[in-house]
Amino acid sequence: MNPLNADPLEIQKFSDLAHRWWDPTSEFRPLHEINPLRLEWINNRASLAGKNVIDIGCGGGILAESMAKKGANVTGIDLSDKALKVADLHGLESGISVRYKKIAAEEMAIQEAAQYDIVTCMEMLEHVPDPASIIRACHSLVKPGGHVFFSTLNRNAKSYLFAIIGAEYLLQMLPKGTHDYAKFIKPAELSQDIRNAGLTIESIRGMSYNPLTKIYSLNQDTSVNYLVACVRPS
Ligand code: SAH
Repeated sequence: MNPLNADPLEIQKFSDLAHRWWDPTSEFRPLHEINPLRLEWINNRASLAGKNVIDIGCGGGILAESMAKKGANVTGIDLSDKALKVADLHGLESGISVRYKKIAAEEMAIQEAAQYDIVTCMEMLEHVPDPASIIRACHSLVKPGGHVFFSTLNRNAKSYLFAIIGAEYLLQMLPKGTHDYAKFIKPAELSQDIRNAGLTIESIRGMSYNPLTKIYSLNQDTSVNYLVACVRPS
């Protein structure tokens, strides 16, 4: 395995698109559209104001900035130089301050162990060779009693149809090749990795997209997109 737990082609893919990150009509439109929903979910569970937060795989900073806007002290890490540059520039424009850093989650976990009240890792695990290693890093980064939030894509016939055929081919919401079905993660698999890392699961929520109304909502249907809220036991 790559000693750095990253797939260079995945990082390249995001770098190639990075200049469009903040264009809400671009390839990143789904991230813009789901952001208010996931932000509220995180804020309701962990109350962001005044908290130390790290966003793993922050990309251009959509979630990171929005959490900072809620009053959190946010660090965003990623391995794409270009995405981080875009994130930095956007922060200058918006006046919302986030500390961005190019560093692997595992390395950050050594440097800043147990420094964070909240760790977020959204839409990232399905792009990584060894997701369990990222999850262990999240456990190391969060303080005892702190919160960790994940989101990813389930792996089954429906998620293949929706996330690949629907989003990439029919609706053309995402560029072809954005997602690799084999890397999608079933909730039972993610739950196992989370428990093995020493985190406790508090809630699993589905996130569905209605292509007719173009509205996302949180619900019990975890068959395609889903989010998991965890805590590190004190
Ligand atoms: N979390 C953000 C961006 C999701 S896009 C959001 O939900 O809005 C996926 C991001 O993961 C990209 O920015 C990509 O560069 C990053 N990424 C992929 N593999 C990574 C790795 N191994 N380590 C850190 N970041 C990674």
